[in-house]
Amino acid sequence: MKADSIIKELSGWKVAPNLKDYNEARASFSWDAVRRDLDGLPGGGLNIAHEAVDRHADGARRYHVALRWIDRAGAAHDYTYGRLRALTNRFANALRSLGIEPGDRVFVLSERIPELYVAALGTLKHRSVFCSLFSAYGPEPIRTRLALGRGKVLVTTERLYRRKVKQIRRTLPDLKHVIVVGNEGTTPGGSDTIDFHRLLSSVDEAFTIPPTDPEDAALLHFTSGTTGTPKGVVHVHAAVIGHYATGRLVLDLHPDDVFWCTADPGWVTGVSYGIIAPLVAGVTMIADQEEFNAERWYGLLQDQRVTVWYTAPTAIRLLMKYGERVAGRYDLSGLRLLTSVGEPLHAEAVWWSVKVFGHPIHDTWWQTETGSIMIANFAAMDVRSGSMGRPMPGVEAAVIHRKKGGQIKPVQEPEATGELALRAPWPSMFRAYLDDQARYQDCFVGDWYLTGDLVRRDRDGYFWFVGRADDVIKSAGHLIGPVEVEQVLMEHPAVAEVGVIGRPDEVAGAVVKAFVSLKPGYEVDEALRLDLRAHARKRLGPVVAPKEIAFQPVLPKTESGKIVRRLLQAQERGSTEANRSHLDEPNEAEEP
Ligand code: ATP
Ligand code: MG
Repeated sequence: MKADSIIKELSGWKVAPNLKDYNEARASFSWDAVRRDLDGLPGGGLNIAHEAVDRHADGARRYHVALRWIDRAGAAHDYTYGRLRALTNRFANALRSLGIEPGDRVFVLSERIPELYVAALGTLKHRSVFCSLFSAYGPEPIRTRLALGRGKVLVTTERLYRRKVKQIRRTLPDLKHVIVVGNEGTTPGGSDTIDFHRLLSSVDEAFTIPPTDPEDAALLHFTSGTTGTPKGVVHVHAAVIGHYATGRLVLDLHPDDVFWCTADPGWVTGVSYGIIAPLVAGVTMIADQEEFNAERWYGLLQDQRVTVWYTAPTAIRLLMKYGERVAGRYDLSGLRLLTSVGEPLHAEAVWWSVKVFGHPIHDTWWQTETGSIMIANFAAMDVRSGSMGRPMPGVEAAVIHRKKGGQIKPVQEPEATGELALRAPWPSMFRAYLDDQARYQDCFVGDWYLTGDLVRRDRDGYFWFVGRADDVIKSAGHLIGPVEVEQVLMEHPAVAEVGVIGRPDEVAGAVVKAFVSLKPGYEVDEALRLDLRAHARKRLGPVVAPKEIAFQPVLPKTESGKIVRRLLQAQERGSTEANRSHLDEPNEAEEP
């Protein structure tokens, strides 16, 4: 690790962080104490929506803005905690009026509009299970997920219904009701759909959440599909203990914060941190209807005076591509904490952030399966650029080696690479893979949940991401993590994005190959290729540095924006898989 990779930030805090001393916080932490900090239901049990909405609506934060929704035209629309309670009560009553039972699955297929948030929280109040689908999916991925999840209700918009749902509806016998949000002035759907707003105004505004067992299923998420077919992951109401604790300790939420999580609720981050954690913390959260646009995002950070931001490396890479000058036109001084999740956050991005925002980005690591953040660079801690940080208090993380016969062995030596394992259970740990008990069992050995990610832990207990277990390159007897090579290539000023794989080789087993996309203003040529290779050799040595560099304008990605090395591999083999046909392509082409 370079000495200059440590970024201190403790001086100049505008507000004292909730977690001031990492070791002290770990020593004094207990999940039971966090649970006691939450309300619990008056009639017993624990319900996510009560903690997120009703508890604030019943108290001093009733008139505080819970959701500030920015419409496509850029206008802001505010929903206080009190208003959100009324709307979510109505949605819960609407489900009841339709005969939906607790445990039934309610899907939403929608862009980010207020109705999505109302449906999510109303579903949780009713104790049915909420599942959000990414709105850019085409009919087939929508059909597959609705069928796998046996969705009983689908909430969608008129446009999406017409373009993507109508043609598949007959193939979904479990889908009893489609509730449609209409465009203003038009009648949605037709006779086989229900109008969202008419339905809500036909039911009562009072609703008492029935007793909810903390172990009742609450959320169904599908994973990103980076390593293959997406898996359905089931979470329970007790997960809110994890959302709340990490919202306080990692995202450092304080009552007056304006928090923006840029992830879509079609992914776990967009639900755990784009809906639940900020509301449980009682802050104002931003939801933007529009997709990524550098100027719009900087403008939104500025105009809404966002204080805490949770985003992803793919967005940061795009902002970096636009250059520092664009950022310089905006007043970004309201921001005090920037955080990221989803993919390796390269050291270069952290340094860029210091230049542009005056703060480093704090990386966090977790998975759909873990339900909430497990490893993080905490606000009060020095940031180690390129590192995922240290385990959340209450979370025990280990580096393990798998042995023959299914046994595992924890590795104590610092800097050794192995698989990241987490001691089970913790409140937001997944409780099942949908209809796949065997696969679920396979993730656990004894008390440990095995994550499938390779990491190393340094002497100070910081974790460093090496790669997914499947992505590690075995070259001439060496094990090479793709992320280490990518980190170094990202340092080069010409590089916008990079994915590194092992190209099969008869002699070495595999040779390291990098696929690089360039920033605007750089041309593909031999001199640049040589320059990149020389830079990598100097920094990594000849064994680890890529032997081959290919330039490619666009790298294959999941819908959530992650670079898929598996597809670069397939491309290399000339496999038809490389045309992304099995990734769930967005289907935005056939606009009527
Ligand atoms: P699938 O499980 O379907 O292959 P996925 O693993 O990408 O898809 P998610 O649960 O959305 O689905 O992503 C979790 C994974 O993302 C982690 O296991 C890890 O590989 C990667 N990841 C998340 N955060 C980080 C991070 N901070 N640094 C590096 N990798 C990260
Ligand atoms: Mg995964």
